[in-house]
Amino acid sequence: MTKGLLIVLSGPSGAGKDTILHTLLQKSQDLRLSVSATTRNPREGEVDGRDYFFVTKEQFLSMRQNGEVLESAEYCGNYYGTPAKPIRDWMDAGSDVVLEIEVQGGGQIKQKCPDCVSVFILPPSVGELERRLRDRGTESEEAIQKRLQAARQEILQAKAYDYVVINDTVDNAVAAIQHIVAAEKYKKDRNLDTIEGVLQL
Ligand code: 5GP
Repeated sequence: MTKGLLIVLSGPSGAGKDTILHTLLQKSQDLRLSVSATTRNPREGEVDGRDYFFVTKEQFLSMRQNGEVLESAEYCGNYYGTPAKPIRDWMDAGSDVVLEIEVQGGGQIKQKCPDCVSVFILPPSVGELERRLRDRGTESEEAIQKRLQAARQEILQAKAYDYVVINDTVDNAVAAIQHIVAAEKYKKDRNLDTIEGVLQL
């Protein structure tokens, strides 16, 4: 069985990653979403185990110390990390797995798993990003300013990613990611067994 793809999706807060991701998940039967652990407080409507595993700082540090997370980062004063085991299990079973993580974590994953496919979602502009963050209405002014500052820093890291996709419309962005994933599956390095198989016939 072919191992699944590991897809890393990053982009500044407010770039529309969540909407893109959920549309992508609805359209792709065999795509699994990694649920991260975080020490930040749940936002209204967020469910433990679905949106995040909400943990205390002590629990997070212990998970990290025990090697239970594939990567971790501190972002705007909170810890975030990707639980390792579900990802290995899903990929071994042939499913593609998508991680929605910030850039420090994205860099750690690329180092550990160089054959992952990393995609950076860009907003059409920083002004548009600010408008989206305000429309969301979930953050204080201070948090918005912090996130905008973080966003500028993050956008500078886009060049370290394999692909960049501008989220002008959700449909365009989702279609672009579907094309990227489809093309990645034809890469020769992912198909060395297939080449061998053909030679055996
Ligand atoms: P939020 O607090 O808005 O849900 O997420 C803040 C940032 O943390 C987003 O850029 C999100 O992609 C990122 N993030 C979520 N989970 C993880 C994770 O497991 N690891 C890393 N490195 N970043 C994460």
